[in-house]
Amino acid sequence: MTERLGRKHYPAGSVIFSQGEAGYSAFLIADGLVEIADGVNGMVRARIGRGELIGEVALIDHQPRTATARAVTDTVLIEVSRDLVERLLMDTNPIIRHILNVVLGRFRKALSQPDFQDTERPAGPRTRQDMDLRSKATDSLTLLRDMRDALVSEQFVLHYQPIYLLEGRQLAGFEALIRWRHPTRGLVPPLTFLDLAEESGLICDMGLWVVQRACGDWPALRRLTVTQRPFLSINISPAQLADGTFADVAMGIQRSAGMDPAELKLELTESTFIQNQAVAQAQLHRLSEFGNSIALDDYGTGFSGLAHLQNYRFHTLKLDQLFIREIQSSSLSFQLVRSTLDMVRALHINAVGEGIETDAVADILQQLGCQYGQGFLFGRPLPLADLLVRNADNTAVRSAPSGASA
Ligand code: C2E
Ligand code: CA
Ligand code: CA
Repeated sequence: MTERLGRKHYPAGSVIFSQGEAGYSAFLIADGLVEIADGVNGMVRARIGRGELIGEVALIDHQPRTATARAVTDTVLIEVSRDLVERLLMDTNPIIRHILNVVLGRFRKALSQPDFQDTERPAGPRTRQDMDLRSKATDSLTLLRDMRDALVSEQFVLHYQPIYLLEGRQLAGFEALIRWRHPTRGLVPPLTFLDLAEESGLICDMGLWVVQRACGDWPALRRLTVTQRPFLSINISPAQLADGTFADVAMGIQRSAGMDPAELKLELTESTFIQNQAVAQAQLHRLSEFGNSIALDDYGTGFSGLAHLQNYRFHTLKLDQLFIREIQSSSLSFQLVRSTLDMVRALHINAVGEGIETDAVADILQQLGCQYGQGFLFGRPLPLADLLVRNADNTAVRSAPSGASA
């Protein structure tokens, strides 16, 4: 065998790997023909050629090779290392990883090879890592099943966090944030279930429910605001805009709820523009024409490419709390916020500072020209009923108390 530029050359008749030996990689056949045979009785199982993968089991498994591979003609192989695949798998959904493991276990069992310690035992967890993976996968599957039920039985709720005009500290609007009132787990925060909702596609129905609920609650919330242009923000995840029907349905919901489209702001993150650009762009365009305003959320945490600002018509930039939090302690954060706000001004759009927890930070942002602020200083996200009670009690929903953390 000779090796050049990651390609390995095997003359006809040479062994590529043998059954029973440790395997750390798979091979892509760039040229030639390979025979896969039983290493004990020599029986040929398959002959495969250019473009096919051999030894692939070693990519997800640390067990010995299950067959012997031999070059039938002069063969060129490209090695694919297990390290690489393991790194890619780490970023994959635990359900997929678990399924791979189960399938692999069954495959090995079907081979019934006596030199595998585990073939007699049903495919199951072996190492601590396998056990963790299995519990993550079963957890996710349970969560997914519960989540489908939750949509039907109305276990999701929206909490609303106030957004203030920094000048004069006046209540200008709210951001709707989803929570799940799980029958046994209690109040589940969105970051626990949103990824799974995205991956499973459930986010589309969930997202429409959010639009519906938020539009329904808006008349009551609106009465709490005191500015001339009150607004309600909702979060839209990339998968919602990728499905192509979102804009139409969302517009229909707003019409039947009697929502003024100019008062609904759709918050999107930069990842929306990386996935399904064309579809997302077309839908955003329609919603924007309809009258909804568009906010770029978590600005500063993604790629913050100026191209997004050039290609899409945003009305609002939401500065991520990561920078806001450090605005006093890090001069870099301060400079980044300042230059972002200069850009906001030049583009004639507005900005919301997120995660404001102190009056001092609110003051700095205001001085830098940031119009709106959101954060625990002004109020935590609360259910509509609680906001109404607070308002009835006259406990400063409309104008923020100095230094208060609601
Ligand atoms: P986000 O859109 O950036 O929302 C702001 C998050 O920061 C909220 O977390 C809020 O509770 C938290 N927050 C607000 N002020 C402060 C503060 O002063 N200090 C600190 N430490 N945190 C503050 P939450 O509600 O857990 O939501 C997390 C994320 O989940 C949201 O981040 C948003 O990306 C996503 N999300 C929430 N509701 C929805 C929804 O209905 N649809 C979609 N697609 N995503 C949602
Ligand atoms: Ca948001
Ligand atoms: Ca945000």
